[in-house]
Amino acid sequence: MPEALAPAELRSLDRAHVWHPYGPMPGRQEPLVVESASGVRLRLAEPAHGQQELVDGMSSWWSAVHGYNHPVLNEAARGQLDRMSHVMFGGLTHEPAVRLATRLVEITPEPLRHVFLADSGSVSVEVAVKMCLQYWRSAGRPAKQRLLTWRGGYHGDTWQPMSVCDPEGGMHELWSGVLPRQIFADEPPAGFDAEPDAAYARHLRELIAEHADRLAAVIVEPVVQGAGGMRFHSPAYLRVLREACDAHDVLLVFDEIATGFGRTGKLFAAGHTGISPDVMCVGKALTGGYLTMAATLCTSRVAEGISRGDVPVLAHGPTFMGNPLASAVACASIDLLLGQDWEREVRRIGTGLREGLAPAAKLPGVRDVRVLGAIGVVQLDHEVDMAAATRAAVREGVWLRPFRDLVYTMPPYVTGDDDVARICRAVCAAAREG
Ligand SMILES: *Cc1c(COP(=O)(O)O)cnc(C)c1O
Repeated sequence: MPEALAPAELRSLDRAHVWHPYGPMPGRQEPLVVESASGVRLRLAEPAHGQQELVDGMSSWWSAVHGYNHPVLNEAARGQLDRMSHVMFGGLTHEPAVRLATRLVEITPEPLRHVFLADSGSVSVEVAVKMCLQYWRSAGRPAKQRLLTWRGGYHGDTWQPMSVCDPEGGMHELWSGVLPRQIFADEPPAGFDAEPDAAYARHLRELIAEHADRLAAVIVEPVVQGAGGMRFHSPAYLRVLREACDAHDVLLVFDEIATGFGRTGKLFAAGHTGISPDVMCVGKALTGGYLTMAATLCTSRVAEGISRGDVPVLAHGPTFMGNPLASAVACASIDLLLGQDWEREVRRIGTGLREGLAPAAKLPGVRDVRVLGAIGVVQLDHEVDMAAATRAAVREGVWLRPFRDLVYTMPPYVTGDDDVARICRAVCAAAREG
């Protein structure tokens, strides 16, 4: 091991050379230096606002559902490391990837049968789009190449995903004239339990019917829109999309990269709807937050459609496709999840969030407080002061990453009741001070 960098030196090198997500160069904010992580706690290299350890309220952006440094996942990684960390996937295959793909087919909605292992969520969305466009090309309908989505979504940061992110106020507004032009429905009316709005359902149906000749697919985040605004909507609208897509020869893609693996209270958010998509993306919690990996699943209809075309192959093949290390950890993470009463844990955390976040509703500047599954959201009536809100949370011993008008949390499923309560106190403090 090289000698450890002193935190101050590390921060200065970081500022000079290292891009951070959605960050300027050189960096303007002082990132906290994490030295290690275990359970639900991040250990800082030096104390910040009196705290050496922070309870992670973010699961490292939806991914670390089992917490950090988990003995079972460590063992899976170590075991695979001793066999091989990586081997190319062109012309070769291996047990971890085959096991993972088979497992994903077993646990996702019924007609999804084929798996493309991608190296990040955004790439899995690119692959989903490519599958849909290629399906219609193969079917002799190359004009079907546009996508429809509803506003308020987030699907990643590469080109096609950016084109279906919320076009206003989002991170990708800069590119509005450059991106492929897609078709946007209004934002789905808010509320998981809200009575479905017939006028909105009609709006979806009419828009799909109107553009059907040019539409390859509808792509949405089912039930929870994540980084586009942390909004929940009625599963009824997804059934409307399914019917309209079937009626007008349009494929339906569910982006479950954030919602997958139990976060909304069902293993996949599709489980709230009673319907299945033609193509589905998973990522984030796939490896329990250990390694970067995502997957695009499709039905046999889609796969066979592509195979009937003039170019009968799916022309995509990342260098690190099917990475054995990530596949082995993903298998272990799925087994770990399904081997416990995860529904109970998600419900328990949801109950804790509901109780602990209730006081936030009375704070000045708070517009809405909502909880679904193990996701808690406090929406402000103003842009959050990210530095002030983060500082307030850290003072409470919690790591949060508020954005736009949102202070939110999706804790690891192993978070104990006391730590859930602590996260809630931190969210309230961040909402008060941000
Ligand atoms: C995070 C996310 C993505 C992008 O995944 P990356 O791994 O960051 O590329 C896409 N869709 C949704 C719904 C996400 O939450």
